[in-house]
Amino acid sequence: MKKFYTIKGACPQDCPDTCAMIYKVEDGKIAKVIGDPDNNLTKGRLCAKLNNFAEHHYNPERLLYPMKRVGKKGSNDFARISWDEALSEIKKNWQSIIKEYGAEAILPHAYLGNLGSLNGLTSGDRFFNALKTTVAEKTYCESGSSTAWMLTYGPIGGLDPESFAYSKCLVFWGHNPLSTQTHCWPFVLEARKKGAKIIVIDPVRTRTAKQADIHLAPKPGTDAALALSMINVIIEEGLYDAEYVGKYCSGFIELRKRAAQFTPEKASKICGISAENIILVAREFAKSKASAIRLGVALERHAGGGQAIRAITCLPALVGAWKYPGGGAVQMTLWSYPLKWDKMSRGEWIKPGTRVVNLLDLGAALTGEKYNTDITPIKSLFVYNSNPLCMAPNQNKVRMGLERDDLFTVVSEHFMTETARYADIVLPASMQGEQLDIMFSWGHFNILLNQKAVEPAGECVSNTELFRRLSKTMGMTRPHLFMTDWELIDEYVDWDSDTMRGIDLEVLKEKGWARLWVGGSPDIRAPYSKGNFPTPSGKCEFVATGAAEGNHVKPALRSGYTYFQQGSAIDPIPCYIPPYESVDSTPELAKKYPLAMVSGKAHAFLNSQYANEKLQKERQGEQIIIIHPNDANKRNLNSGEDVKIFNDRGSFSSIVEISEDIRPGVIYANVGYWDSMIKSQTGVNNVTDDRHTDMGESGAYSDILVQVEKM
Ligand code: SF4
Repeated sequence: MKKFYTIKGACPQDCPDTCAMIYKVEDGKIAKVIGDPDNNLTKGRLCAKLNNFAEHHYNPERLLYPMKRVGKKGSNDFARISWDEALSEIKKNWQSIIKEYGAEAILPHAYLGNLGSLNGLTSGDRFFNALKTTVAEKTYCESGSSTAWMLTYGPIGGLDPESFAYSKCLVFWGHNPLSTQTHCWPFVLEARKKGAKIIVIDPVRTRTAKQADIHLAPKPGTDAALALSMINVIIEEGLYDAEYVGKYCSGFIELRKRAAQFTPEKASKICGISAENIILVAREFAKSKASAIRLGVALERHAGGGQAIRAITCLPALVGAWKYPGGGAVQMTLWSYPLKWDKMSRGEWIKPGTRVVNLLDLGAALTGEKYNTDITPIKSLFVYNSNPLCMAPNQNKVRMGLERDDLFTVVSEHFMTETARYADIVLPASMQGEQLDIMFSWGHFNILLNQKAVEPAGECVSNTELFRRLSKTMGMTRPHLFMTDWELIDEYVDWDSDTMRGIDLEVLKEKGWARLWVGGSPDIRAPYSKGNFPTPSGKCEFVATGAAEGNHVKPALRSGYTYFQQGSAIDPIPCYIPPYESVDSTPELAKKYPLAMVSGKAHAFLNSQYANEKLQKERQGEQIIIIHPNDANKRNLNSGEDVKIFNDRGSFSSIVEISEDIRPGVIYANVGYWDSMIKSQTGVNNVTDDRHTDMGESGAYSDILVQVEKM
C-alpha cells in the first residue's frame, strides 16, 4: 500500500515571484510539485523552469556523496569519500593555511542559488565571521539599484503585483516580466482591460515589449538621460503635482535645474530615441496619475546605473502617483520584510579591519591583482549557492584563479557545475524539498514557510547542517553556530513586527504563506499618499541627504557584516553618467569593437541553474545572440550561423539570430549556459568586465563593447 501526503513549500529560486508550492509525496519521494492553487499569486501555476521540480530532485546526475579530486583541476576526476573524510580534509587544509597565513587567506563565495533565509545568501556568514576569514561582499545583483532606491525613498517595499491591477499606466523599465516575473502578468492584463497603457523601456524587444502599447529602445546605459528628459518635459509642461512635491518631496529646485539640461532634443541624441517619443511617454506617465514603474535590475549594470535609477525613481513622486492605488514604483519588496539581517550574519563577530573582497573581483583576487594578496594570498575558496565560473565577470581571470594548484577549493553543490570541476572537495547539497526554510520575496509581500517534504537524497545536507558540521569540525563553541533550523527561524524573523500581525508559525505551517501587513493592511494600496518615506527628511529626496559627503547608507546585507554601511561620495542630484564603453564615450575603442552587448536571464534557466536539465535545454535551445539586420549585413551573417563574439578580454561562440528585436549597434545574449554547452567552451562572461558601477559596488555587466564575426 503506497503512502501519500502533501506538504506546503515555497520556490527557492532567485526570482521575484517566490511561488507557494505543494509537494506531493509518494512513498518517501517527491512525486510532483505544483503551484498552490489557493495562493493569491501562484494560483496553482509554476513557471517553465520549475514545473518539473520533482524530477530535478531525482536527476541521475545529482551529486549525492562527498568527493575528493583525484585528477587535474577542471578534469571532473573525483573519487567518493565519506563525510568524515571530507571534513577532516577541510580541517587539515584550513588549519595549515590559518597557521601560515591567517584565516583571511580563506574566501567564502556565495550567492542566491537559494533565496531562503536559512539556506540562502547569508547561510554561511556567521560561520565564516566566527572563523575570521576574509569577508565576501556579494554585489552581483541589485546592490546598485537598492542604493539608489534607498537614497530616494528609504527602505520601503513599494508596490506589490496585485496593485498593478489598479494602475492606469505601467512602465516596465529594463524588466521583462513575461520571462522573469510571470505571476504579475494577470494583474497587468486586468489593468489593461480597464484601459491602462503598458510601456516598456528596453534596448531589446523582449516578450514583454511585444505586448506593450509603447516600446522605447534606448541605447544601453543612457536611461538616466531619458528619465531626466521626461522630468524636464513634465516640469516644463506643468504636469507635475505641485502639492505633492511641495509637501512630500525635497530638492525640487535642484532637480528642475538638473533636468533642464536634458531637453528632449539633447536626450534624443544621447539615447537614440526620437524627441517626440520622449515627450509622448512623459505626458502619458504624468497624465495617467495612477502610474507605476517596475524597475528591473538590468538598469544598474552600467557605469551610471545607480544614478539612472535615482532619476527614474523621482518620476512617480514628481507626478504624485503615490496618491493613487496602483501608482508608485517597485524596486524590491524585500525592504518591507521583518527579517533580522544582522542576526543572520552575526556581523558583530567580524574583527574591525578584516579584509573585504567584492566577489565581482573574484578573478582579480584569486590571481593576485587586488586586495593585498601579496601580503595575505587567498589560499582557499569555499563556494556554495553559486557557480562563479559561469556568473562572475571576466571569466578568463576567474578560471586562471581556479586553476591554481595552491588554491584549496571546496564546493557545495547539487550538480557538477563548471566551478565544481575545479574543486578539491565537493560536498552534496540538499534541495528545497529536503529542507526547512522561511522565505521572503523581492517581488511581493508574502512570507512563506518551506517545510521539509522528504529526507535528503544520498548524503546531501542543507546549508544550515553543513555549517553546523563545519563549526564542530573546526572546534568552534559559540552556541549560535549550532542552533537548530526551527531556532534559526525563530531568531531571524521579527515575529512582533507590525507587519506580522496575525501571522505566526502555526498559520504558516497550515497555510504555507501569509501576506504581510505592509502599509497597515493588505488592502491599503496607497500607503505613501502622504509621503512618510523613511528617508532622513521623511520625504522623497530628489536631493539625497548626505550623498555628496558619502554620508549615506548603502544596503549591504550582502557584505555579511552589517545591514547598512556607509557609501562613498556621489552626486546627490540624479545625473547622467555615460557608459564606460560605448560608441559615444569611447570612440577609439568602438572602432575595434563597435557593438554594445547587453545580457540577460534566459527564459528556461535561472542564472546558471537548470542549464544542465534536459527539458530546460530543449526549451531554451542553444546559446544565441540577437543582432540587427543592418549589423548582420555589414558582417555578411545569416541567421543560424556560428559566430564569434570577442573583445580584448576574451571571446565566446554562439548561433546568430538576425532580428529587428534589437536596435542597431547592440547585440543581446542570454546568460546561464554552462561552458560545456557552448562550442567555444567559454561563456558570455568571457567578454564582460569586473568594473563596478557608480553605486553599491554593482557590476557593469552590460557596459561593454564587442565585435562579432563569422566563425
Ligand atoms: S522560478 Fe519564479 S516563477 Fe518559477 S516557480 Fe520559482 S518563484 Fe515561481
